Amino acid sequence: MLKIEILEMSRPFSAVTYLISSNGEYAVIDPTTPYNPEYCDAADVKYILLTHCHFDHIFDVQSWVDATGAEVIISEHEVDALKDPYRNCYLFYNRTQDGYFGEATGIKEGDILPLGDTELRYMECPGHTLGSGSYLCEQFAFVGDTIFKGGAQGRVDLPTGSQAMINDSIAKLAGLPDNTIVYPGHGEFTTIKQYKLDRGI
Ligand SMILES: [Zn+2]
Repeated sequence: MLKIEILEMSRPFSAVTYLISSNGEYAVIDPTTPYNPEYCDAADVKYILLTHCHFDHIFDVQSWVDATGAEVIISEHEVDALKDPYRNCYLFYNRTQDGYFGEATGIKEGDILPLGDTELRYMECPGHTLGSGSYLCEQFAFVGDTIFKGGAQGRVDLPTGSQAMINDSIAKLAGLPDNTIVYPGHGEFTTIKQYKLDRGI
């Protein structure tokens, strides 16, 4: 059984940071607040999961790596983009840092990540960026900037964005069970049923 916690926001623009756990093992999704031992024991953090490479989703990856030594995971299409201020968009917004320069593991469609007594499945959802993806677990989907509450979608005008690709990714997510709870990279949660109603699909 997956437990989900939303961590405090600590920066402007920052994505929602989800701390998920199962049976004492933890994963943080899009860490944009520094690691704090009050969240969980550092040794229990197994993964640092990224939905895509954008700066506002990776602000505090280094803090979590330093504290926990956990594996950083992102689409195989965006491992290099973490270090590329054009693709991660630090170039456009903020030059106080340029990216995450440590090790990261590439993930692809259908890859499984065991966590405690459950598992996550990775779904490629390109469109907002080429390497955007969702982490699916039980009745939950962590979708980054592909879809948002209210029938909205991620912008496609940034490097590697594509409306044609995001259309396919939205259709793919819409194929998940209606009761799937969708946790986006910004804003509040919705469900697949509600998203389809709001978007008129
Ligand atoms: Zn983004």
